[in-house]
Amino acid sequence: EVTRLARFMTDIVEPYSEIAASQGKSLSLTPVTDFKATLDQNLIHQLMNILIDNALKYSPQGRAITISARLIGRKWQLIVADQGIGIQAGDRRRIFDRFYRVDTSRSRQTGGNGLGLSIAQWIVGLHHGTIVVKDNLPQGTQFVATFPLNPSASLTGRRDKKQ
Ligand code: ATP
Repeated sequence: EVTRLARFMTDIVEPYSEIAASQGKSLSLTPVTDFKATLDQNLIHQLMNILIDNALKYSPQGRAITISARLIGRKWQLIVADQGIGIQAGDRRRIFDRFYRVDTSRSRQTGGNGLGLSIAQWIVGLHHGTIVVKDNLPQGTQFVATFPLNPSASLTGRRDKKQ
């Protein structure tokens, strides 16, 4: 669907701010310049759930998580940045693999099965986008997903029309 990003992101992020606050963390949306992009709202919502759940899961109390969306030329980016435990360079290549978890003993405490990021990558791919992980200097992790503003019609619109 053609989606106004500012409103869409606000609706998704708001409930998470309360969850974060209840965990002694802060979570906020950097004000989004309003622009429109064509996307599957259910899938992008799920992508944000995965990235935000991870940001919360791997951030100690007192840390901040910021979410933003920005327009760059004919593309747009979704960025989820945290100040959490970070991901070592050697693990970065594998975190998008199915069932891969950096530290299974630690992960067992935090739950999860290592599927989240492989689903995230699948959702981004359906939108003809890319997702990368970076350091969030001085501390933590940043996930940056980059999408074309108007991916091909195969993704969008079709499910709205009865065929
Ligand atoms: P789930 O399937 O419930 O999401 P998971 O978090 O273990 O479980 P993924 O979301 O695929 O699985 O993440 C894979 C691994 O990448 C995690 O186990 C964790 O080690 C690492 N990781 C993901 N996001 C972050 C983050 N924001 N900060 C630090 N490590 C992260």
